[in-house]
Parts: sequence; structure tokens; C-alpha cells
Amino acid sequence: MEKPFSLKNNYMIRYRVQGGQPHHRFINFVALFPSMGETTTIQLPIWRPGRYELGNFAKNVRGWKAYDADTGELLLWKKTTPHTWVVQSDGVDYIKVHYEYYAAEMNAGSSYWDGAQLYINPVNGFCYLLDNPEMDIDVQVHVPYDFAYAGGIPAEKKNVENGESTWLLKSANIDHLADSPFVFSRDLSSHDYEAHGQKMHVWMNGDVNFGDFNWRKDFQAFSELQMSMFGDFPRSHYHFIFQFAPYFIRHGVEHENSTIIAMGPSQAFNERKNYDSFLGISSHELFHAWNVKCIRPRDMTPYDFTRPNYSDTGFVTEGVTTYYGDMMLIRSGVWSMEKAKIQMEEFIETHARNRGRLHQSVTDSSVDTWVDGYTAGIPGRKVSIYNEGAMLAWMMDVDLLVGSNGNISLDDVMREMYKQFGKRGVGYTSDDYWEICKSMGLNRWESYRYELCEGTGDYLAQLKYTLKHLGWKLEWASSGNVAEDYYGFMIDDMGRVLNVIFEGPADDVGIGQEMRITCINGVDIHRNAKDIIQKQTGDLTITVEDKWREYNVEVKRREKPFKRKAVLVDIENTEIRKIWSGTRLGD
Ligand SMILES: [Zn+2]
Repeated sequence: MEKPFSLKNNYMIRYRVQGGQPHHRFINFVALFPSMGETTTIQLPIWRPGRYELGNFAKNVRGWKAYDADTGELLLWKKTTPHTWVVQSDGVDYIKVHYEYYAAEMNAGSSYWDGAQLYINPVNGFCYLLDNPEMDIDVQVHVPYDFAYAGGIPAEKKNVENGESTWLLKSANIDHLADSPFVFSRDLSSHDYEAHGQKMHVWMNGDVNFGDFNWRKDFQAFSELQMSMFGDFPRSHYHFIFQFAPYFIRHGVEHENSTIIAMGPSQAFNERKNYDSFLGISSHELFHAWNVKCIRPRDMTPYDFTRPNYSDTGFVTEGVTTYYGDMMLIRSGVWSMEKAKIQMEEFIETHARNRGRLHQSVTDSSVDTWVDGYTAGIPGRKVSIYNEGAMLAWMMDVDLLVGSNGNISLDDVMREMYKQFGKRGVGYTSDDYWEICKSMGLNRWESYRYELCEGTGDYLAQLKYTLKHLGWKLEWASSGNVAEDYYGFMIDDMGRVLNVIFEGPADDVGIGQEMRITCINGVDIHRNAKDIIQKQTGDLTITVEDKWREYNVEVKRREKPFKRKAVLVDIENTEIRKIWSGTRLGD
């Protein structure tokens, strides 16, 4: 058997990667693993940092085989988990492993090969030695000669031959490789900007239309403020890598010294709403460079790729990041106060609409991301670590400001977290976080912790205090969606029931989530359900399909609409609001 590449005096893992026929979507992986003795255990990660659920990457692996690299003889192996191969390697120097990875999914955490780009999240498809996760991994990538490279690991272009170039990526261990996604593409454009003396790289794959927006200026502003708040930037270089798709997508994932952000439709970022969400995700992901990539929960220090890494700290990792992602845009002046108000209204509304708040705490929901954290799940079971965590961070931030006459805020808590844990490379627990909050003088910290964070206490009661000091009053308005406002349910165009308001008119007559409405007042539903219901002004006769049966119900129209839209009414631009929405950097 032909040796794929040299074995000479290298006690390391060596990979060779190349896309196959583009429309087949398979990437070829060939690897050399030093033998560990009688048996060698080769492991594929089962989850990826940033997504706290099982990734099941093994489902994309085809034709996994192991050979003696010297003789080319097929070795014996046994799968002991879906992601673990135990190879009989007695008397073998190097094991050559070959497999293909199906790369047909495009999001910020996947891998994708279509002939125009080779995009790999290494955590999806690279194996490591279970007994030696610290072993160096060299990766040779073969791509068409005109592809450029973007990624957190510096890549060296070795040679060009027959229209193909070979690149070399050197990684110190599986953690580093797994946390360094890369894109090879002929549509990559390279940009940079400077903030706080730090050069930041921005890679854009695909064409994007920003219209008159000056993204560089806005990125500079939120980056500068984040770095000033923490005092420094934890990495020597950093890369924003954007996958600009022609269809709707919003997805970002944080990494050691980079972030992948998939966004689309790429020609519509000249519209304020889309541009704002581009800024929102970008600021969120950069904040993760400190909060989670550096200030890391002990439950995930180090990452264990062989099992779920349960943690109750989602309200810090994602909650605090969600809050600061938005706040940094507000406080740096990129977003107006009007936009600030809309963002805060969204937090409140998302909270109030989810009856999961009555059933599960944010800390328990954090552990449960491993079960159903990224899907809607059964009705009202759980809350979002992003939204509830952001609400908590908001209330605690304002509480700290009020208690200290504007001198101490959640900024100080996060700086202390950075100093005590992030900079020292030590993982923190939720106890540590609460200790720091307490030491900063947070009033009622027991109530924040035990009632709101670890319990299912009433956020809106505490929020009254927050809003009073920010000079806002919370009111509730109808949403303008007739189905929701007058009949108490939400449907999609196909008539599928997405949500039912507890004890509303639809609930009262037995309409439930996941049923389908096939007819409204004599009009059959064919991709037009929302339109039809929007025009209704009286009671409804509805035909409901419930898997095993179909029946008619009468839904009474409410006289007054439900009011589920949160509106913050401006009362006064208080001193606390001015500090809260300012840079807080002193003069
Ligand atoms: Zn995040």
C-alpha cells in the first residue's frame, strides 16, 4: 500500500484531508496515528463546544477502516461507542485510518464541501487518541489552487501542483484543533480593523450587500468598548469568519481565537433589521472571547469530548453574553436608545410568553440543554438560558448601579471573573460567580440566586425595580396578530397549531399544540391559514385534525384582545439610565 505521507520521526497524529466529488459532499480523511501498544483507542468528539448537546457526528462518517501503515494490512478493530474505535495494534508502529465525512450541512457549527469551498469544523470529523489528547496534530489540506484560507490556526501554503495546492495546519492538541474551524474558498475576501491597539481580522465568504452601513466603524466601536471594559484582549490574534448565504440563516459559534457566523440572505444586509442582527451576533460572539472561551465553567475545564459536560452556568455563559452583546452596541453608541428599548422589550416579552418559567429554573434548563435545549420541546417545560440569563444580568447590573450610586456594575463582576478565573486558566462554578456578585455588594443576592436563578420566582416583580430606576414603565399591548389576540392561539400558514394561550378561547374548546386546522368558517386551508384568520371578525367554526380524528369546534372571539406585547413607556431619562447606557469608562 502506498504511504500517503511521511512517517519519519514524528510522534504525532498526521491528517490528510481532501474533498471528493463536490456533488457527493464527502470529504476524505486519511490519518496516521502512532500505535499505543496492544490496542489503540481512537475517538471522535461527541459534541462541540458552543452547542451543549450531543452532536452525533459519527452519523456522518462512512467507511472507517484501520490499516498497518507499513504493511498496508487491514487491522482488527471494534467500535465500543458510536464514536470510539479500539484498534488491535500489537506490533504496529503507525495505524493508518481512512474514512469519509458527509459534509452537506451549512451552519456555524457544521462542515460543508461543494467544490467552491471546503469548510470544516474540525470537532465534527477529526479523531484523536483517547489516551493522549495532548498529542500534536498536523493537518495537510488539498484544495484547488485558487482557494484562499481563513481560520484561527495559521496555515502555510506548501506547494501548488496540477491545479491543486497543499496547505499545512499545525495544532498542539485536539482541543486547539477542535476549536479552530477553517474555510478554504475562492470567494473569501479579507478585511481588518483595529481596536484597542489590537488588529482584528474579518473574513467574508460570499458576496454581501451592506448598502450605506459602515460595518468597520461599528465593529471598531463595540470591540473597543469590550476590550476597554475588560482592560485587554485575551488573544494575540482574532478572526471573524462570515459565511454569507443567499437564504435566511442566523447562526454564530464562538471559538478560541475566532468565530464562525453564518448569515443570510446576504444581499439584504442593507436593511436595518438584518444589519442590526449582523451586529448583534458579532458583538455577542466577540464577548464570548472572554466569557466562556477564557472565563470558563469548571464543568468544562478541560472539555471532555467523550461525554456530556453538564453545567448549571448557562445563565452566565450564554445569559450574560446575550445581555452584553446587546449592551455593548448600545453603550458604544452603535445602537440608539430607541433600539435599546426594543431589545429590552424583547427580553421581557420572550420571558412572559414562555410558561416554562413556571416549571423550570434557568439553572436546571442549563443542564437540560443536553436533552432539548435547542428545540421548542414540549409545551412550557423549560426556559431559555439566553433570554432568562440576559434578564437576570440586566436586573443585577442595574441593581448594582443603584446600590453604588453608579460606581459598581456587572462590569466589575465580569472583570473580577476574568481576573480570578479567566486569566489564571481556572474554571469557575456558579458558587464562585455568586460569591463575586455578593462581594460587589449586590443587594438581595439570595433572592436573585435562589428565587430567580435556581428557582421559578417572579422575574417581573423584580423587574419593576429595574425599570423604575431606568425611568421606564412596563405596559402590555395587543400584538396585532388576530389569531393570538382574539382567539388565543398561533398557527403557521399550513394551519399547524404552534402555541395555545393557557385558558384562552382555543384552549377552552380543546385545541392543542401540534394539531392542524384544516378549515376556518367554511374556507379550506391551503398554505393560507394566517391570512384567513387575520380577516376574521366574529366567532370561528374550525375543523381540527388531531392525528386519529377530525372534528369541528366553535371558538368564541374575545371582546378585548390579549395583551402580550411588552411596551416600555418613557417616563424619565434618569441618572441611572444615563450611566447604564453609557460607556462607564470614566472620562
Ligand atoms: Zn453564545
